[in-house]
Amino acid sequence: MKTIGILGAGQLGRMLALAGYPLGMRFRLLDPASDSPASLLADHLTVDYADKSALERFARGLDVITYEFENVPVEEVRYLEKLVPVYPPPIALEKAQDRFVEKSFFCELGIPTLRFTTSFSDGRRNELGFPAVLKTRRMGYDGKGQVVVHSETDLNNELKGRNMDELILEEFISFERELSIIGVRNKAGEMGFYPLVENHHCDGILRLSLMTKNVSSRLQDQAEEYCVTVMSALDYVGVLAIEFFEKDGHLLANEMAPRVHNSGHWTIEGAVTSQFENHVRAVSDTPLGSTNPLGMCAMVNLVGSLPDVKSILKIGGAHLHLYDKTPRPKRKIGHVTFVEKDVETLQKKLDMLKEIVNV
Ligand code: AMP
Repeated sequence: MKTIGILGAGQLGRMLALAGYPLGMRFRLLDPASDSPASLLADHLTVDYADKSALERFARGLDVITYEFENVPVEEVRYLEKLVPVYPPPIALEKAQDRFVEKSFFCELGIPTLRFTTSFSDGRRNELGFPAVLKTRRMGYDGKGQVVVHSETDLNNELKGRNMDELILEEFISFERELSIIGVRNKAGEMGFYPLVENHHCDGILRLSLMTKNVSSRLQDQAEEYCVTVMSALDYVGVLAIEFFEKDGHLLANEMAPRVHNSGHWTIEGAVTSQFENHVRAVSDTPLGSTNPLGMCAMVNLVGSLPDVKSILKIGGAHLHLYDKTPRPKRKIGHVTFVEKDVETLQKKLDMLKEIVNV
């Protein structure tokens, strides 16, 4: 029996623990917030990441440490790594925490990404053209910290009073769609990939992940190749998600997450082995499970407020997950997954859900 420490006790930590218990794993959590979705499931240290003696207490007796969000402070993770192995490797956090470092990393690896700049000196500000997207380099998620600028004046206004070292400007892509791939690699170098899913956002927040027949094997192979390139470069262990924009039939990497990912929640019921179980398997140095899908799948996030649960459960085949979070605007509080035999039935189920939930 192995004991896994998880940094972060949110819904991802909760689903990791739920996947790991049947494999005989035990868990310990560290999260400064006391009312966390995973708290019910394991010992939870509600301490600050900067508290070194608390980190030592947390690490004592653990076999491995992993994390469920990419903004855990790297310095503290490196400190923990001296006590217990940490997977995915902390270098993956360093690459993913800063959009400039991340996009430069994609470029170094030959993975196409969108054009970007961090050079805001006069005269070079609009080298990408307009519209463009101004983003914070760090701590931006769910569309937070980003604004579309339409002109030089717009950009200058947005830059006023801001520390330019903390910002990145990206070209605005009028993409055909957003897709993401989830890959997993274990210590032995064994790898697996889930099918690309189409992601639909509203206000920068993921609302729907959809498996579609409209993904060619060329696109799937391309995404897998990029995933292999990143995982090999980082000697990666665990689940990795890469989000892409599809433009003119080609993939442009937007960002990566060195952790289990919202666009992979459908795998709990929709794949032979879920992303959560495969992450646990990978970090605990065991063989990976099959990533094959079990049908046509869709996952809808429940955002902001709790819909009528009974009505959702009345829909045949609805798999409801609630995270035990207090509803708040723009907060992800749960999700619903459907696994159906064909696209038509899947669409029918989604239409029924749309009557209850704002998809
Ligand atoms: P991000 O935080 O980079 O994942 O951005 C959140 C969402 O904003 C993305 O999923 C896209 O829908 C949109 N977005 C981000 N960057 C761009 C861009 N450069 N061009 C067009 N849309 C973008």
